[in-house]
Amino acid sequence: MKYVIVTGGVMSGLGKGITAASMGRILKNKGYDVTAIKIDPYINIDAGTMSPFQHGEVFVLKDGGEADLDLGNYERFLDIELTREHNITTGKVYQAVINKERRGDYLGKTVQIIPHVTNEIKERLRNVARNSGAEICLVEVGGTVGDIESMPFLEAVRQLHNEEDTEDVVFIHVTLVPMDPQGEQKTKPTQHSVKELRQLGLHPDMIVTRCKKPVLPGTKEKIALFCDVPAKAVISAHDAEDIYMVPQRLENEGAADYLLSKLGLKSRDDIKEWDRMVEKMRSSSGSVDVAVVGKYTDLEDSYLSIRESLKHAGIEVGCTVNTHWLDAEDFEKEPGSTDKLLKYDGILVPGGFGVRGTEGKISAIRYARENNKPYLGLCLGMQTAVIEFARNVLGYDDANSSELASTGHPVIDLLPEQEGVVDMGATMRLGDSFAELTPGSLASKLYGSDVIIERHRHRYEVNPKYIDEMEGAGLKFTGRNKNRMEIAEIPGHRFFFASQFHPEFKSRPNRPSPPFLGFVRAMFEKNKPE
Ligand code: GLN
Repeated sequence: MKYVIVTGGVMSGLGKGITAASMGRILKNKGYDVTAIKIDPYINIDAGTMSPFQHGEVFVLKDGGEADLDLGNYERFLDIELTREHNITTGKVYQAVINKERRGDYLGKTVQIIPHVTNEIKERLRNVARNSGAEICLVEVGGTVGDIESMPFLEAVRQLHNEEDTEDVVFIHVTLVPMDPQGEQKTKPTQHSVKELRQLGLHPDMIVTRCKKPVLPGTKEKIALFCDVPAKAVISAHDAEDIYMVPQRLENEGAADYLLSKLGLKSRDDIKEWDRMVEKMRSSSGSVDVAVVGKYTDLEDSYLSIRESLKHAGIEVGCTVNTHWLDAEDFEKEPGSTDKLLKYDGILVPGGFGVRGTEGKISAIRYARENNKPYLGLCLGMQTAVIEFARNVLGYDDANSSELASTGHPVIDLLPEQEGVVDMGATMRLGDSFAELTPGSLASKLYGSDVIIERHRHRYEVNPKYIDEMEGAGLKFTGRNKNRMEIAEIPGHRFFFASQFHPEFKSRPNRPSPPFLGFVRAMFEKNKPE
């Protein structure tokens, strides 16, 4: 097994995750099976309880693991599916160590960071890498070198490097090369950060520098000299127009060849699939404008997978998707405020929790339904579509979800078997689950299949008591998992599709998610010149 360990210096938010994922992609393009592990040094067990406002989206894995959004980047760039073991946090490591201590596994010894915690970390890295069946395992250490929280992880990868063959563990350090007001590229922050790394016993094999402009040969040489690497090991990862262009940038800088030589490997192939996707993306013409009516619209990362899924669909359709983030609460203030939705080609309501903004979402959905505007609803976006329909078509003015209000018409509710077991986190339906699609429905046309598997993250469901009535009035449930309604659609509408699952987690740059593809197509059809 080969390990490529990626650390970061100078500051957070450098795009270390994208750099690491892109490194993985160029190795995959050379014919290698690549997997990835993300280390998050925070004490939370996982990202499930973290606010999307603070931390960005919670990415849901097929096994129901709730992970950091970087896992989503790995899945998209490497076109793989990961599991919860691929996200290692301080919380998980300490929980395991403490459980072992309580069971007496340490045979009366004093339990310490070195060796017990570091052994636990190494064991996890090795097991996950081995069980994945891949040949190369990327390990991204979250945070910045020097953070207290990441110390045990850096020590563990140092030991890993000592214990494995030299060619089996390679280190990449991602840093920043800022420019002074005269435009001169400054190397001091990189020098300091590598010095810090070396004090911990880690020596980078490659330094990837983030910069606004291409890093000049002279700058590279200076970094090489002070950081004790050859100049060709200094890679310029200057800003790219789009994150999907980063792999090509690294490849053009010679990163793949250098990395392979460090790993003692030879190129086996030259897979062009990614290049073709980028080419398609660059040659798209025309555009559509979609309004995402949500609650966490201040931090775009809160809906990262949705943004990427819209982009994937755009690449396939051949248009750019301009995503506009609108705060749902803006539609609650005055009647008629939904008129500002007129200028958008389609409306999307994403998932969410809690009551804030839901009335605004319901108004936006009503606008889409009544004005024949393409609508895509995801999770809470399906639940609010059902509430809207019950209120404005069936005439149940107080229809609501029992998560949001106590009401005489709980059209969204817990199923009888779920009653009484509500407890934060523990009772959510998470991860892969199937849905059977109604033949001839929009759902079955989009997916081209009778049974699908998609990822979930919710607690409430469409109340089975209202299904016949809603179907009779025109809201059809065309995807079902026993008594759980997975998809709602309105035949006759230009495009009205809502799902209880989150299709955005399975979308890939060259394999867009079917509901997103249908949605973008419906929006684009209208824009095409006759
Ligand atoms: N809050 C809703 C539920 O728990 C929807 C969740 C979501 O949109 N992810 O069912």
